[in-house]
Amino acid sequence: MSNPQNTFYSSLQQNLDQLREQGLYKPERVLASRQGSEVMSEDGRMLINMCANNYLGLSGEEWVAQASIDATEKYGYGLSSVRFICGTQTVHKQLEHAISKFLGTEDTILYAAAFDANGGVFEPLFDENDAIISDALNHASIIDGIRLCKAARFRYAHNDMADLEKQLQAAADKRHKVIVTDGVFSMDGTIAQLDKIVELADKYGALVMIDECHASGFMGKTGRGTHEHHNVVGKIDIITGTLGKALGGAMGGFTSGRKEVIEMLRQKSRPYLFSNTLAPSIAGASLAVLQQLSQSTELRDRLHENTAYFRKEIEALGFTIKPGTHPVVPVMLFEAPVAQKFAARMYELGVLLSGFFYPVVPMGQARVRVQLSAAHTREQLDTVLKAFEQAGRELGLLKN
Ligand SMILES: *Cc1c(COP(=O)(O)O)cnc(C)c1O
Repeated sequence: MSNPQNTFYSSLQQNLDQLREQGLYKPERVLASRQGSEVMSEDGRMLINMCANNYLGLSGEEWVAQASIDATEKYGYGLSSVRFICGTQTVHKQLEHAISKFLGTEDTILYAAAFDANGGVFEPLFDENDAIISDALNHASIIDGIRLCKAARFRYAHNDMADLEKQLQAAADKRHKVIVTDGVFSMDGTIAQLDKIVELADKYGALVMIDECHASGFMGKTGRGTHEHHNVVGKIDIITGTLGKALGGAMGGFTSGRKEVIEMLRQKSRPYLFSNTLAPSIAGASLAVLQQLSQSTELRDRLHENTAYFRKEIEALGFTIKPGTHPVVPVMLFEAPVAQKFAARMYELGVLLSGFFYPVVPMGQARVRVQLSAAHTREQLDTVLKAFEQAGRELGLLKN
């Protein structure tokens, strides 16, 4: 019998089947161990992990886990409240202060995720009199956040400064203008040209906002982020970021900037007002991580050494990579079935990495994306390079 409820479920099933047929279905890999440079898969095999955002290797690290346990002991499991009712503890204020200090900003507001930080940043600050000028490849959470705001929307071609200038001119009659970009774009490891963006912002009287999810903790000489990398610390108006990648890897996000901005977000930002406080275990562990990163650049330095080594050696093997310096290293295989086969073969050889193909990346730009970590040993990287060579030979992919 086809009643409306049944047709709802059967049409969902059809759409799911279609995703599978189109090769767009995303299966989940189940790990049986902590996150780390080596992980155990469900079937008990050990794999070298080349696809986590665990840039500083902190996710499975003992002292970080212990800091979260200590915070749980002291502050309990959770708050059962949003921040403004009875959900703010000293550890949350300490973490906000530490993030501001680390980034060189005045104040910081915590969220349950960077997705929420981006989702809740535009609507309280900008309205129909204003303009948001956004890089075409910005993260989904930025796109969604912009959708929730009444400001006029302008989009510039990815990383294209001439087009950004054109859009700034098109937005000239708007009251406030804000340029928004990922600090680092995670598909290519492309670093936004913040020096040029800041220059254009000054020329046209615009604000600048950056999303530092793939930068906070390791970009720039002391790991402060893309603004440090491009020598524009203090010139960025709004910085959003995650605690769920380099800065520990659990979850949680933040927005940082001038005190007026943060104060207004505390009053009006919906994911902050209507969603629970970040768990104290996460706040405590994130605080310990920031203290550690403020004292030493050792992890950041090791990450960049690993990145430089891997980039050099993978090219020497005859693979094509997107040039750059970021620990995201796209190894280009161009055709989707090749990328799929390659990732599957690497898995058999004991290396975990993920293939990306259309529509996640443009047609004909299929790739496997390698992500380096400070936790990788030279020996692990050499094992991975050997596996690349073997799989590359088998599939006839090496230029050399
Ligand atoms: C991962 C990511 C996010 C989302 O971060 P969460 O804290 O996991 O919600 C937002 N923006 C960018 C650029 C990201 O890479």
